[in-house]
Amino acid sequence: MDQSSTILTPPAEPRDFGFYLEGASVPAGSREVFVRNSPGHGVPVTRMVKCTDDDLDAAVASARRAFDDRSWSALTGADRATILLRTAELLRARIDEVAYWETLENGKPIAQARAEVGGCVGMFEYAAGLARSLHGDSFNNTGDGALGVVTREPIGVVGLITPWNFPFLILCERVPYILAGGNTIVAKPSEVTSATTLILAEILTEAGLPAGVFNVVTGSGRTVGQRLLEHMDVDMLSFTGSTAVGRAVVEASGRTNFKKLGLELGGKNPQIVFADADLEDAADGVAFGIAFNTGQCCVSGSRLIVERSVAEDFGRMVAEKLAKAKIGDPLDESTQIGAITTDAQNETILGYIEKGQAEGATLISGGAQPDLGKGQYIAPAVFTDVTPNMAIAREEIFGPVLTILPFDTMEEAISMANDTEYGLAASVWSKNIDTALTVSRQVQAGRFWVNTTLAGGPELPIGGFKQSGWGREAGIYGVEEYTQIKSVFIEIGKRDHWIK
Ligand code: NAP
Repeated sequence: MDQSSTILTPPAEPRDFGFYLEGASVPAGSREVFVRNSPGHGVPVTRMVKCTDDDLDAAVASARRAFDDRSWSALTGADRATILLRTAELLRARIDEVAYWETLENGKPIAQARAEVGGCVGMFEYAAGLARSLHGDSFNNTGDGALGVVTREPIGVVGLITPWNFPFLILCERVPYILAGGNTIVAKPSEVTSATTLILAEILTEAGLPAGVFNVVTGSGRTVGQRLLEHMDVDMLSFTGSTAVGRAVVEASGRTNFKKLGLELGGKNPQIVFADADLEDAADGVAFGIAFNTGQCCVSGSRLIVERSVAEDFGRMVAEKLAKAKIGDPLDESTQIGAITTDAQNETILGYIEKGQAEGATLISGGAQPDLGKGQYIAPAVFTDVTPNMAIAREEIFGPVLTILPFDTMEEAISMANDTEYGLAASVWSKNIDTALTVSRQVQAGRFWVNTTLAGGPELPIGGFKQSGWGREAGIYGVEEYTQIKSVFIEIGKRDHWIK
């Protein structure tokens, strides 16, 4: 990486990454490789191994051995915390490097990538505390002759499938918590964004994680991912991705060993803006909520539901804000909106922008493809004259496309917000506390923001209502998700015999 100039540049040659097994990187050898082009620059940046079925089986066997030999699960919480804290420290020292590879493979702005990796340091620190404080329960209301003890046990081998939109952040919203619970892991990142997961593997080993506790297989979802879903020796699977693949995850679990599942799926998230909001703040928040990570964000606020009396003016304010956001080379520090991550996603977003117009909605700004001489970019699109049944208002686009729907009463706003199969996230903007609280209590979403959006920290759990998923990640709930409960009933003293 060229660090001498203000704007970093892609590597002259793509970097080779091995997959990760038993605490060490395994080079491709005679296996096929996948070459990843940077979506912001159109040049090859990484080469990943296409793992075989045998590689996947070896990774699961490695995680199984590491779980069964109790080299991790039997450590004290304090010892596990020490390794998680050391990981945080090592990661902090490598923030720039991790952000660089994240940006190259994903296309997100480097400043944003750096902030995300910085946030991941906090995830490891917080989970270290949870490793120490995780505990069971006891019942001494059983009379003098007995005692009930409830323990929290790790689940075992956890398969972890992550998507390409936040390859490192989503990974770190899970890994520290899974490890804090005493489990071992086989991670399968998206084939197009595997680099930073492999860098984390190196860091964990350097921090002292026993060999085999964290393994990474690379390759496509349809091959190596599907085999991980179906593996009989995987006890739990945490999947983050599309609702369609989520369904395949549930089916695979049912067909095989009923592995426990954690699912974080799609969203079509409302931003509800009342006329009494600070409209300047709200316009900035709504613009951020749809354009952050080029809208390739499961929690992006893609449905603006705004009080009719201010709808037209407010739509204009949002459009003006978005027009000012800087679209540019993801490696440029000043870029706010980077590249669209994959060719397929680029086509999907452009397809929806066309479809919205064909369905009769009015594109009031954006939607074009700025020509930066390299890479693929889309200016955030804002649509008015939208009806709730249009595809752009109902389907998850996973891109910078905002639909504006006006409302007249709070009840109508709540009902419009809930008129979706999803329930991942929602925001309300109002200076009236009764309005804000009523909406926050009645909108069905796993994450809710009041007078802000896309905010949070390691303490707050993540997850969806309705078809947006099962279970929770992060926070105390996140670590509990990766444990199972054992109840122990202990008799004290002489048994009262059944057969006298
Ligand atoms: P995706 O196609 O479902 O892929 C997600 C992950 O699953 C990738 O690692 C993918 O690998 C893998 N995969 C694909 N097919 C598979 C199969 N048959 N068996 C096992 N694994 C398989 O989704 P995506 O396009 O990457 O991400 C976009 C979707 O994810 C959106 O719907 C978005 O809302 C959702 N998402 C949700 C959250 C959340 O927290 N709720 C966060 C981020 C994204 P390959 O990429 O290598 O094929």
